[in-house]
Parts: sequence; C-alpha cells; structure tokens
Amino acid sequence: MEPLSSALVESYWRLFVNRQAYTVQSLRPHPQTGRHYYFRPKKGRRGAPPQMTHCTIRGHLEGEITIGLYAINPDTQRSKWLVLDADYQDGTADLLKFEYELNGDGIQPALEMSRRGGHLWIFFATPLLAKQCRIYLHDLALRLGVRVKGSGQAEGIEIFPKHDEIEPGRFGSAVRGPLGLHRAANRRFWFCGADHTIEAQMAHLSTLTKLTEQKLQGFIGGREWPKPFSSLEPRRRSGLRRPPARREFRILDHVGAVRVVGRNYVTRCPSCAESRLDRSGDNLAILISDPRFYKCWAGCPKEAIRSALGCPIEVSVPQLRPAAL
Ligand SMILES: [Zn+2]
Repeated sequence: MEPLSSALVESYWRLFVNRQAYTVQSLRPHPQTGRHYYFRPKKGRRGAPPQMTHCTIRGHLEGEITIGLYAINPDTQRSKWLVLDADYQDGTADLLKFEYELNGDGIQPALEMSRRGGHLWIFFATPLLAKQCRIYLHDLALRLGVRVKGSGQAEGIEIFPKHDEIEPGRFGSAVRGPLGLHRAANRRFWFCGADHTIEAQMAHLSTLTKLTEQKLQGFIGGREWPKPFSSLEPRRRSGLRRPPARREFRILDHVGAVRVVGRNYVTRCPSCAESRLDRSGDNLAILISDPRFYKCWAGCPKEAIRSALGCPIEVSVPQLRPAAL
C-alpha cells in the first residue's frame, strides 16, 4: 500500500473525528468468545489520557490498528455525523428506506456495507447538537415505520449518537471508524458508490451534500421527542444529574434495577442482553460487599460486559509507526 497523503488523513479527521478520545479494537480474538472487543487505550506514563493524532488515523487507514470513533464532543454536545446501524436480517432494506427519505430532504447519506447489513452515514456541514439530530432521525423512523432498537424493541435500527448529551469525563458510544480493517472479518468494508481505494472513497464522501444546522432546525421545527420515544428522554436526563465523572468504573452506575440474592446483587447481563439472551434478567451477579467483583453465569467475559455497557476496559495500544513522509 502506498503511504497515504497527509491531506487524506486530514480530510478523514475533518469528516469523522468529534474528539480526541477513541477506542481500539483488540487485534486478537477473545479466547472464549472469538470476538474482537473494543478497548479504551491506556493512559500514558504521566496519566495523560491518550489523544488521537494524525498518526492514529494513519495507523487505522493502513490497517495496523482499528479504531472506534466517539459520537459526541462533550464540550459542545455536538457531532459531525449520524450513523444508522442495521445489523439484522433485512436491515439493508430499512437503510434504503432511510436513504430514499433523506434524499427527499436534500441530504445525501453514504451507505457503508458491513458483515451483516450496513451503516448509513449522514454528514453535517458543521457539528450539530446530538439531541436535535436524534429527534430528527427518530421522527423519520416513525414516519417510515422502522423499529428502533432500545425503544422497547429488542431488534431494530441503532442510531448513533446514542445519547442526547454526555457528562464531562464520560464518553458515550463509539462506532467503528470506517475504511479500516474489520478485525473479525479481516477485511475492509467500503462505501457504495466509489472505487475500493481509500483515496476514491474519501473523494466520494467529500462530494456528498451535508446537512446544515438551518436545515435540521427546519426539519424538527422546534419539536421535542416524538411520542413513542419520549419515554427514552427522562432516563437520559436523570443520567445527567449524577455526580461528575468518577475515574473508576462502577458497574452499579451502568446496569438496570438489581435484586438482592444472598451476598450478591443480581441483574440482567448487558452482554447477554445484546444477543437477546438472559430473558429472566438474572445472569449477572455483583458482589454486594465489593461491587468491583461481578460475574455473568452464562460465561460472558468481563471484556464483553464492559463493551456492551459502552465502557470498554483500558489496554495499551500497539506502537504506531511515525508518519511516512
Ligand atoms: Zn452474560
């Protein structure tokens, strides 16, 4: 592979990067599950949080690492994009409905294929408020009759950003950075409509009509959450009332209601729930006397549980080659 130009790396950054925190996909499959989980890169020697640089993007595009991109910048509560993830049977058909409808609104989304279904990306002319983007998309889903995962639906489309706002020090959800190597499939997944090279793909994305703030506000017209989804909102808002970020991961801050059984709290395992397992909601046991200890009785590894909660475990990232210039 030819070294990528700095301009290309810069345009990837302009299009996709909301903040310098990021996640990185494990290069090796988990010994039990065979899955490649995402981790948060470990802090440096001086405890400084790892920051994404052009070198990180280059490493991703050249296939040395695979990164996940956070959807919201907590300083502004804005994002540069929306992604619809349809990871289910007939998911692509639902994405095409959205594409058609978005085209009608004068927006050109980009369809990125994935192992199952695909991702539909909507890019913005300037970063937009996550909350307003989400209202627009949920409203569109309602009009199209497409199910949205999480709104009482086990299966359906997932919308990123997944939150209206995130607290300082928190991260929210990340999406696999496009155009990198998918570790499990060991291949790249491309956007439709352009040749399968990074240069051609980026050139294609740059020509798409982006959503402007003025247009977005016109679409939502001062509306708040559409009715069937409005129950999603108070929970998120109450999330914001929690005390400011703690450095340490506490599982009780992330799981739903718990019951006391003997020495443990018992609740639904978030990783099992992703596979629509643990219907009885009691696979995860958390030690009451020290909640740092928890265990899924179905055998989900800790990596899977943390990943399902959107709080991946921290690991050291592989050393990246400096830019070849
Ligand atoms: Zn589990």
